[in-house]
Amino acid sequence: MLLTISCTRPDGAAWTASDLGYLLHKNPSRIQTFEQSYGEAHVFYPEAGEERCTAALLLEIDPVRLVRGKPKGTPDFSLGQYVNDRPYAASSLLSVAISTVFGTALHGRCKQRPELAETALPLRIELPAVPCKGGAEYAERVFAPLGWTVVATPLPLDPAFPDWGDSHYLRLELTGTMRLSDALSHLYVLLPVLDGSKHYWLDSGEIDKLLRFGEGWLVDHPEREWITRRYLTRRYTLVRTALARLAELDDAEPEELDAIEEITEDTVAEGDSTAGAAAEGSETEDERGPSLAVLRRAAVHRALLEVGASRVLDLGCGQGSLLRELVADRAFTEIVGIDVSMRELKIAARRMRRLPEWQSKRVTARQGALTYTDASLTGYDAAVLMEVIEHVDAPRLKALEQSVFGAAAPGAVVVTTPNSEFNVRYDGLAAGAFRHSDHRFEWSRAEFADWAQRVGETYGYAVRFAPIGPEDAEVGASTQMAVFTKQGKSDDSDEKGAA
Ligand code: SAH
Repeated sequence: MLLTISCTRPDGAAWTASDLGYLLHKNPSRIQTFEQSYGEAHVFYPEAGEERCTAALLLEIDPVRLVRGKPKGTPDFSLGQYVNDRPYAASSLLSVAISTVFGTALHGRCKQRPELAETALPLRIELPAVPCKGGAEYAERVFAPLGWTVVATPLPLDPAFPDWGDSHYLRLELTGTMRLSDALSHLYVLLPVLDGSKHYWLDSGEIDKLLRFGEGWLVDHPEREWITRRYLTRRYTLVRTALARLAELDDAEPEELDAIEEITEDTVAEGDSTAGAAAEGSETEDERGPSLAVLRRAAVHRALLEVGASRVLDLGCGQGSLLRELVADRAFTEIVGIDVSMRELKIAARRMRRLPEWQSKRVTARQGALTYTDASLTGYDAAVLMEVIEHVDAPRLKALEQSVFGAAAPGAVVVTTPNSEFNVRYDGLAAGAFRHSDHRFEWSRAEFADWAQRVGETYGYAVRFAPIGPEDAEVGASTQMAVFTKQGKSDDSDEKGAA
């Protein structure tokens, strides 16, 4: 999926076309990649001259990730969810990318060239494939009233078989002179409107977005009603909103974090955390206090200090959020992350590249499967399994127990997992559903205690339990933690059975 935005400098203008880079907050001399929950977004400039400059936003969509993010019980599980046009067609995913990657420009802010952000620029926007079920005239009907010259060319279903006619995809070219933020807001709102894909949930936040990004143009648009109807009933971001909220409750560190940092760098303290979907999965503090993900890391960190660990394994380290927290604490001299997923490790590695040297030299992350014994994992002071066991198929859990508690046998093991009793407190989580589509089980406090006691007895560990997150009198806290300490080798055996 590709979007290009080109700008040409009018004769005598006091700016150069490559100033587009300032407006987009993306340096024309670099290729930049932003992790998105559904794949990657790349920004690069095929051309960046004084007279003409073109910025390209290329999305690489992973259809499998798109599906994996969906909660269990999503009604239409089908092959179509895996094999579809999302990787190629400019849909609402592109809107999400515009808001996360070009959020500052979308909001019309530019510290270095504030006057240029307010200037109408000669722009040309090209999209090689836009799904538009209503036909080419709809592209004309929504974009032309906003001042765009629209060339919408239907794409043939198959060029080898002209008899088959046209597909419902268009090549779309828009030319017009307007502020960049206006151009981006038109795309942000109207691409999902033209797209006819199906979407499931609706919340009032979407209405706010429509009104905010439609400000100044939607109210007078002749197709205002049609746009509004289509926008609100066909928004993929609603799915994302629901998923991002669930992800915050659960173990997923928002992958857009880098994009959020990117946006906030330029918009410090504006109190606008609504840069499209960027902030939807944000784990930053708000009026509700720190997110569960933050509390969880703090609790695990504290437990590791309490057992006096300095060489630590983070088993199932994912994108490395705990690694980054631990490495900032000099109490830990060696931190090793293990994960089965190369994709998660790639993100972890990219994030760790930004660490100062004194931190990065104490941490490594590599691939490994916890259900297989790995001799190199022996001899550590402590191991963490943070939000990992529930991702392992129940029949394989014994193999993980053996490899971690039996073979690696660290001095302490810290395990966190969702407390399923708490699920009733989450609006939007269907009864009996899991918090994350990849969870194989979620345990009540009693089930977790049974498991932990059995593992402790089998492998010679004492165990204590602690809640993480605000505690509810009836159902407990959202996350539950068990801290195992090896008996016989250490002198804190009096902890056995302590609550
Ligand atoms: N501990 C991290 C990530 C939790 S998500 C955090 O709390 O942020 C669970 C992680 O466990 C995923 O990254 C997944 O790839 C990993 N995982 C699941 N089964 C695994 C296995 N058998 N071996 C190694 N890693 C596994």
